[in-house]
Amino acid sequence: MILENLLLDSAMLEQASYQCQGCQRQLRSERFLKQGLCRDCRDARERSLGRSRARAAIDQLLDREDVLILDTETTGMSGAEVIELSVINTKGDTLIDTLIKPVTTQMNPFAQRVHNISMTMLKDAPSWPEVLPELDRIASHSTLLAWNASFDAKMLEQTSEVWGLEHPRWLFVCAMRLYAKKRGIKSRGLHKAVVDENLAYLLEMHQSHRALGDVKFVLEVLRETVKRAD
Ligand SMILES: [Zn+2]
Repeated sequence: MILENLLLDSAMLEQASYQCQGCQRQLRSERFLKQGLCRDCRDARERSLGRSRARAAIDQLLDREDVLILDTETTGMSGAEVIELSVINTKGDTLIDTLIKPVTTQMNPFAQRVHNISMTMLKDAPSWPEVLPELDRIASHSTLLAWNASFDAKMLEQTSEVWGLEHPRWLFVCAMRLYAKKRGIKSRGLHKAVVDENLAYLLEMHQSHRALGDVKFVLEVLRETVKRAD
């Protein structure tokens, strides 16, 4: 009887030793522990590693002279054309900032409410066949950073398609994904990120949702986020 109790006690003791070295939580079985950590603590460690990797990646990109930050405004979403393009380098110098006259005469009213660019403003602007070679000249040997890069990449390609032009291959990196990874979040709208980084005063300085304002926001948000380790 006594022996039985002893065995029971030692079994309980052993059970109590499945402890996470991260949060000190007691686990019911050894199989919940890997490298001494519970699932939650392993996930947290992964996220933290991801965050420092993203921070290092942003830091490196901002240090490179062949990295350009790009933003577009468009006539809408599906089948839309680019009507404004801005490109700056990581020092903040403006390389391209132009309105673009589209083929279509239709502007999606929702898009217009966002960027406030009207068809009238575009009537004397250069067209895409004039802008494309200028962009390709600087983009072909650069890495293009853009907030939600897949959108800009798609819109640029779509615009070439409308004109029947062969579209060059450029290397895009998504600034939003890097930023979100650095912050340990899923995604973030650019203007929300500006506010989150305590840069709201910038929203007063640039025309919101215009391409040049937005590329400057991207640069400042990235510069700000690498200052902090968290
Ligand atoms: Zn734990």
